[in-house]
Amino acid sequence: MAEQSSNFIHNAIDEDLKQGKYTDGIHTRFPPEPNGYLHVGHAKSICLNFGTAEKYHGLCNLRLDDTNPTKEDTEYVDSIQEDIKWLGFSWGDRKFYASDYFDQLFDFAVKLIEKGLAYVDDLSAEEIKAYRGTLTEAGKESPYRNRSVAENLALFQRMKAGEFADGEKVLRAKIDMASPNIVMRDPVIYRIAHVAHHRTGDKWCIYPMYDFAHPLSDAIEGITHSICTLEFEIHRPFYDWLLDSLDFDPNTRPRQIEFARLNLTNTVTSKRKLRQLVEEHYVSGWDDPRMPTICGLRRRGYTPAAIRNFCEEIGVAKADSLVDVAMLEHCVREDLNEHANRVMAVLHPLKVVITNYPEDKQEWLLADNNPMHGGTRFVPFSREIWIDRDDFLEDAPKKFFRLKPGGEVRLKHAYIIKCDEVIKDAAGNITELHCTADPDSKTGGPTANRKIKGTIQWVAAPTALDAEVRLYDCLCETDENGNVPSDFIAALNKNSLEVIKDAKIEPSVHLTAAGTHYQFLRIGYFVVDPDTTPEHLVFNRVVGLRDTWAKVQNK
Ligand code: ATP
Ligand code: MG
Repeated sequence: MAEQSSNFIHNAIDEDLKQGKYTDGIHTRFPPEPNGYLHVGHAKSICLNFGTAEKYHGLCNLRLDDTNPTKEDTEYVDSIQEDIKWLGFSWGDRKFYASDYFDQLFDFAVKLIEKGLAYVDDLSAEEIKAYRGTLTEAGKESPYRNRSVAENLALFQRMKAGEFADGEKVLRAKIDMASPNIVMRDPVIYRIAHVAHHRTGDKWCIYPMYDFAHPLSDAIEGITHSICTLEFEIHRPFYDWLLDSLDFDPNTRPRQIEFARLNLTNTVTSKRKLRQLVEEHYVSGWDDPRMPTICGLRRRGYTPAAIRNFCEEIGVAKADSLVDVAMLEHCVREDLNEHANRVMAVLHPLKVVITNYPEDKQEWLLADNNPMHGGTRFVPFSREIWIDRDDFLEDAPKKFFRLKPGGEVRLKHAYIIKCDEVIKDAAGNITELHCTADPDSKTGGPTANRKIKGTIQWVAAPTALDAEVRLYDCLCETDENGNVPSDFIAALNKNSLEVIKDAKIEPSVHLTAAGTHYQFLRIGYFVVDPDTTPEHLVFNRVVGLRDTWAKVQNK
């Protein structure tokens, strides 16, 4: 696993440790709301939280933040766990649910009421909003703000008992309606919702608000550093107010630290928008290989190591920025370059007949699997082979070093061939090429090292496997800076998926498991899709070979 480099969060932790705080060790958490599948932005948060715990030999909890029963589902809970494990992290036996703490959270709310720090309000949601004021104008106190402790306690119990309808009452923290920070203007901490919860069933009809549940869940679990995204910065005073008000020890209680969320060019990173793509069938599901969900990236063929390296490379920032998706692709390419075996495939097949090669002959030629690891295999060669249509041009310009009439090209791992004749159908389409091979030009042969400018891949026709190959492009058109427009549905790229039904591949890939990676020589990196059966091979293009990120870096 990549060593975590230091960042401002780690500097803050070092400072805390120096001051003698958190002597029991560092403890972080990853707190997703189970209302959708995790995406690449969450991967950043996962790497940061689990990685920080690893760096300090501490612990990281998984906490499913399930305080909003209307949008949550066990399908999401399961997928979240699968995705974190796949990325290579473990929460050990520390999987928690915010709903585990509903009783304790209720008791904390009662304690606030007893201290005169919370009250039951009868204002409607609209009234609360109107009373809240604006950035330039102080808020107005609710007429119910000065209820007695006894009255508040009784009303809160009645809220819990189900005596009121949704929205009829709320519990609010009593802080300061004139605070310059709007979050501190008596935030709502409990609301009534007569809905069943996926874990607590009908036990509760009041549910804690996120801003109340989150800091207290952190404190209950003994979290030392609550790492979250920048939008929570203005919520931090309330986080601290709550822990102060409930007498948590400043030397051990959690400290909130914010970092900038990951935004990627050409990429939608909002669960709500991703859910819309799935529910309105713009994609085949959460794991559609075009989706930036972790399961989508997995099916696309991205690897855990590549995603972790990417998260490490981009570092942790204090200000929002946009990261070029080419950098993520670069990390994927680096990992696959090292680990994927090279094989030969032809996406747009054109038949070549080697007229001086015997019809009944078949040779098995030695081919290397990956220059970094060694390893070899044999590939069959025969009189009829497939080459890519793009590797032949009838009226080729001078600098075209692939095959052309009268020209020579080297077949990778095999012979040098010369194109003698172009065969066409009645409509003038090229149907096959007739070539002759230089019989001495095989590896080790007398003319093997003859200078030939072009080398192309090929697949022997009789033994070729047929395959479906799916090529992906960006899901959304973007502006010139790579920003996805707000009306992203209108900007969906109609050509984001191209399916090639009749690709040809060498037989060595037969019966490989879904998730196996290959480099198709000269084409790109591919992965076996789960739709594959022994009769029907399906590959996804992971990334092409051209590394635009490396180019940007070298400028
Ligand atoms: P979304 O906006 O996509 O719905 P969210 O923040 O509501 O995301 P949560 O389930 O609450 O989703 O997120 C769990 C954790 O992941 C939070 O700590 C959140 O800050 C973090 N996170 C979410 N999106 C990103 C991102 N793009 N970059 C970094 N961290 C993120
Ligand atoms: Mg959230």
